Amino acid sequence: SVVTRFAPSPTGYLHIGGARTALFNWLYARHTGGRMLLRIEDTDRERSTDAAVNAIIDGLAWLGLEADEPPISQFERAARHREVAAELLKAGKAYLCFATPEELAEMRERAIAEKRPPRYDGRWRDRDPSEAPVGVKPVIRLRSPTEGETLVRDLVQGDVRFPNKDLDDFVLLRSDGTPTYMHAVVVDDHDMGVTHIIRGDDHLTNAGRQTLIYDAMGWDVPIMAHIPLIHGADGAKLSKRHGALGIEAYRALGYLPVALRNYLVRLGWSHGDDEIMTTDQMVSWFEASDINKGAARLDFAKLDAINGHWIRASSDEELVERVMLDRDVLPNGSILGVADDATTRRLLLAAMPGLKERAKTLVELVDGAAFLFAQRPLELDDKASAILSSDARALLADLLPRLDANTAFTAAELQVVVTTFAEEKGIKLGKVAQPLRAALTGRSTSPGVFDVLAVLGRGESLARLRDQSR
Ligand code: GLU
Repeated sequence: SVVTRFAPSPTGYLHIGGARTALFNWLYARHTGGRMLLRIEDTDRERSTDAAVNAIIDGLAWLGLEADEPPISQFERAARHREVAAELLKAGKAYLCFATPEELAEMRERAIAEKRPPRYDGRWRDRDPSEAPVGVKPVIRLRSPTEGETLVRDLVQGDVRFPNKDLDDFVLLRSDGTPTYMHAVVVDDHDMGVTHIIRGDDHLTNAGRQTLIYDAMGWDVPIMAHIPLIHGADGAKLSKRHGALGIEAYRALGYLPVALRNYLVRLGWSHGDDEIMTTDQMVSWFEASDINKGAARLDFAKLDAINGHWIRASSDEELVERVMLDRDVLPNGSILGVADDATTRRLLLAAMPGLKERAKTLVELVDGAAFLFAQRPLELDDKASAILSSDARALLADLLPRLDANTAFTAAELQVVVTTFAEEKGIKLGKVAQPLRAALTGRSTSPGVFDVLAVLGRGESLARLRDQSR
C-alpha cells in the first residue's frame, strides 16, 4: 500500500510551501488508503533547532495534517547510513576518496575558470587506499556510471533524463562519518517503505543522483512527483516580502485550518473549476498526477475569500471554540479575556450569527465582537462621535422608555418598537438605527442593531444608551 512522507529540515519554521507539500502527501495517502510518515531531517546539527521541530509538529497538528506514525529523526539513523555506505564500499559500488580540501578547491576553481559546472574528477576511483596520504581521513563516494543516462519518471515533470557524466562521483559519507543529505534521504525512504516521494521541484536534480544510489543498492526507486514551488503574486520566487511566513503566522492572521487546506490544495492542483472544497472532497478527488507543472502564485485576496466562506460555513459553536482556542495567538484576542470564560462564550455564541457574516478572518471576527466586552462608558470612534449629535442623543432619550417598556427584548420585537417609533417621528429608520448602533457599540458598523440590542440584553443596552443620551 501507499506510503508517502513529509521530510522537512528543522532549520526554519514550517512555511507555506512546506505546508502545501505536507498537504499533498497527506491527501495522497488518504486518497489511496495509505499512510503518511513524517521524517525530521535534522542531520545539520548547527542549523536544526528543537523550536523548529516543535513548530513543524504543532503546525501540522493545527492544520490537521498529522502523520500516521511518530516522527522519525534522520540524525538518529546515522549508524544505519554508515552501514549502507559500508555495504556499497564492500560491493565496489562506492570507494574511499582521500582528496585533500586543497585538491578539491583547485578542482572547483579550474571548473569555474573553464566555465563548466564543478565536478569531482574521479581521481580516487581506481586508486588503492594504500596510496593514501597520511593524516587525510577519507570520504566515501558513489562509483557513478560514467556513460548513459539516468531516467527519473516523474508524475508531474514527466520523464527527466540526466546524462550520467553530469552526476559525478558524489559523496555519500563525509570524513567524520556523517551522511550527506543525498545518501540519508535514500536510505531513510527505502527503510521507511516510502512508495511515493512528493516534494518541491528544487529537489528534482537530486532525484537523478538519488536514483543512482537506489540502483547501486538494487532497491526499487519510489514514484516521484516534484511539485512546482510557490511564487509571490508578482511571479517571483516566494520570499519573506511576499508573506513567506511560518504557518503559525497564518494562524495569528486568523485563518481557519479548513480554509488554509482548501486554499493550499488549489495552489498547483485543481478539480475542474471547484474553488471551495471540503477536505473529504479533496481526499476523494486528489491525484498526484493532476498536479500542475506551472508555478502557483500566492494570493491573499483569494485566501481571504476562501476563509470568509469557511467562517460562514462553520457552526456558531465551532467558531466560538476556535476563537477561544486561538485567543492567545490572535493579536486582538485579549478582548476575549475581559469577562469570565462562561460569559465570553455565551455572548460570543449569541452574537455569532451576526458576526460571522461580516468577517473574512478570525481577527475581523474578534474585532467585530469587541462591543460585547466593551466597558461603560464606551469609547466612541470618530464616526460614532459624529453620529451622536445632540439631536441624535435627544432622539435616543425619547426612544429609551419604549425600549425599557418592551418585556421580551428580542431582536424581532425591538425591531417593531424602533420602526414604529421612527414612523411616528416621520423619520427614516436609519436615523434612529445609526445613533443606536453608535451608542451601543461605539462604532458606525456592527452586526444588525436589533441583534446587538438583544445580545447585550436589556440592562446593558439601556445603560449604554443612557450613557449617550444625556
Ligand atoms: N529536507 C528537505 C527539505 O526540507 C526535503 C527532502 C526531501 O523531501 O527529499 O527541503
